[in-house]
Parts: sequence; structure tokens; C-alpha cells
Amino acid sequence: CGIVGYIGHQQAQEILVNGLKKLEYRGYDSAGVAIDVGDCIVVTKSVGRLKNLESKVSENKLIGCRGVGHTRWATHGRPSDENSHPHFDCTGKIAVVHNGIIENYAELRAELKALGHEFKSETDTEVIAHLMEELFNGDILETFRLALSRLEGSYATAVISEYEKDKIIVARKDSPLVIGLGINENFIASDIPAILEYTRNAYILDDHEIAVLTADHVQIYDESGIPIVKEVFEVKWDA
Ligand code: GLU
Repeated sequence: CGIVGYIGHQQAQEILVNGLKKLEYRGYDSAGVAIDVGDCIVVTKSVGRLKNLESKVSENKLIGCRGVGHTRWATHGRPSDENSHPHFDCTGKIAVVHNGIIENYAELRAELKALGHEFKSETDTEVIAHLMEELFNGDILETFRLALSRLEGSYATAVISEYEKDKIIVARKDSPLVIGLGINENFIASDIPAILEYTRNAYILDDHEIAVLTADHVQIYDESGIPIVKEVFEVKWDA
């Protein structure tokens, strides 16, 4: 399973699918991408091999310089198009990818359903999108932090939203995530091989860290929202 993300000046879709190919060795049963096309976020996803996703995206080339992608190793909900990531909230304004397991998803799902949220998948992941919709307070980072504080389990997760169109926000706990640092572009990936084509400078996120990527900046925070300074890791080896 794997996560990729791109924000910058190039077309995101191709970079995301390329990155997912580099993460195939991690295993997966389905794949998907979410692209910000300007007036909305468009998700394309497919159960099965990456070439299924590739043929869907090549039929419908999306123009957009911000997006996230995912390869899924199903833990909650069978492998299917509906259960593939990315997942949306009810409004379609918040798109989430996630590797790991949300252990308290059943109670969160019941709580959110009682508040009127309709779920489209059987995954544990979808609760993250709805939780963010429910908690949204005008500040996407703060909303993300509040949502994370309700989660038990493991996650590497990345979110794009229409509320702050210049950002990707990510976090990790017990599941790997790296941030590739480019020039006027930044990347996320579960592992370094997915970013090596583009950069050798990276932040290796530690548990409980949250990061906000814009095209020209990456800021890392601890779980209480305090900005932290992290050393840049220089990759010296080749993929
Ligand atoms: N638990 C999530 C799901 O079943 C994510 C699985 C993964 O790590 O790919 O959809």
C-alpha cells in the first residue's frame, strides 16, 4: 500500500501515477488519485492493477497541479471501486487518502451517521473525511489536528480540500511518510523511491508529526500544533 502527493507547477496526475508505480512493491489491491482541477476535486479510482487506473486516467486527462494518490491494501471493506481511496466527505470538498487502520472507526462512523453523514464505502478511512467535515472551523490545519486527536490506530494520511486550495496536509502515526522537497514544488510519498526522480532532499516524518505543504514551502508541526524545525535528509543512494 502507498501514498503519494504533489503540489507545484507541473501536471499532478502523471507524477502521482508514476509515484504509485514506484510503490507497487509494497503490495496493493486497488488504486486511485484525487486531482484539484480548479473548481472542484476529481477522484478517479479502480480496483485491481495500476494499469486499470492508468487506462481510466488516460481516457480522462485532468489538468491540475495539486493532488494525492493511493494504493490500497484492504483491511476494512473488500477491494472494490467504492472502497478504493481517495475518499470524500459529504460535500466533496475534502479528499482523504490513508494507509493504516483506524481502530475506533465503528464508533466514529456511528456517531457521524447519527449526525446525518452518509457513507459511500465500508472503509475505516472514510470516517476521517466526515470527521473533518463535521469539525471544520474555517482553518483546515486546525480541523485536521482536531480530527487526528479523535483517531485511534495507525495512519499515514494526506488531505486536499477546496477550503485551502494551495495546500496538502499530511500526518503519520505508525505508518511511513516522507516529504520530497523540490523547487516551487513539493511531494509526499510512503517511501523514498517514489520521489527520487524529482528530488534528493526530504523530510522523514516522525510519529505524531503533521505537515502542511504548499508549492514553495513545507511546515512541520507537532501534535499540539507547535511549528517544529526538522533536519533535511539528503538521499545519497540511487533507486
Ligand atoms: N484501512 C484502510 C482501508 O482498508 C487503508 C488500507 C491501506 O493501508 O491501504 O481502506
